[in-house]
Amino acid sequence: MIIVTIVVMRSRNQPRNQPHDPPKRPSQIIQSDDPKVTPVSGIASRPLEQPSPISAPARTKVLVVEDEALIRDTVVFSLEEEGYEVHAIEDGRLALDLFYRSLEQHDSNAWQPDLVILDLMLPHVNGLDLCRFVRSQASTIPILILSAKGTETDRVVGLEVGADDYLTKPFGMRELIARCRALLRRSQRDDDEPKQDSLCRGDLELFPEQCRVSRNGQSVSLAPKEFKILELFMRNPNRVWSREQLLERVWGPDFMGDSKTVDVHIRWLREKLEVDPSHPQHIQTVRGFGYRFS
Ligand code: CA
Repeated sequence: MIIVTIVVMRSRNQPRNQPHDPPKRPSQIIQSDDPKVTPVSGIASRPLEQPSPISAPARTKVLVVEDEALIRDTVVFSLEEEGYEVHAIEDGRLALDLFYRSLEQHDSNAWQPDLVILDLMLPHVNGLDLCRFVRSQASTIPILILSAKGTETDRVVGLEVGADDYLTKPFGMRELIARCRALLRRSQRDDDEPKQDSLCRGDLELFPEQCRVSRNGQSVSLAPKEFKILELFMRNPNRVWSREQLLERVWGPDFMGDSKTVDVHIRWLREKLEVDPSHPQHIQTVRGFGYRFS
């Protein structure tokens, strides 16, 4: 028994077989081998739903979606050194699943990032489609695209699908951290500004935070997809939407159904919102293009 005790004490105090060397700081200029990357699956780093350490103050959460291990590990290491809570995902499909649960299903157990660093060339679901999905959920979470694709067209496309910033590889870690801070500052300022309580158009009033709609002060019951279409319309009055655009924004990029689905939902909306659904005043058909709300 004495021998056993001594061995246990030694193993606790002197972990000779598992030395804890301080982590080496990775190189600060990060190159990309994106085109040659081998697709992998699974979640790197800690499990997504693992809670933060007990009693630790709430930290800003950053999600890193990147399939290149060297870049991913280096970015995670540097952000954690800056005090951020970081999770890393190396597969586009897993990232889509996280966004779907946190934004579409409002799953309170899903990890909710304050900032997303997003690679474009990812296994299974690419970064542009992920960005489109996040914005289709009316989420304003800041997104920084980190990509080897660095032409002007690439940048413009990235920003047009809803990214807030675009950084090309190779990149400097200090610049990445500075851009993250700037995006978070801007996001915080937006959060601090008083929000518009409702959207009004004629006899219709929509309350985004409460997922509620009224017509002439009377509550109207809408299905979730009907509500999303109407919110998109009311945020963009007089804009013409094609059926494909509505499918992408409301149903998401992975929806495989027919565009006639849009027509069916528009008919249901008209029946609930229009005084005379056969002569709609709010949701008008624009022949050859799609629909317009006014
Ligand atoms: Ca990649």
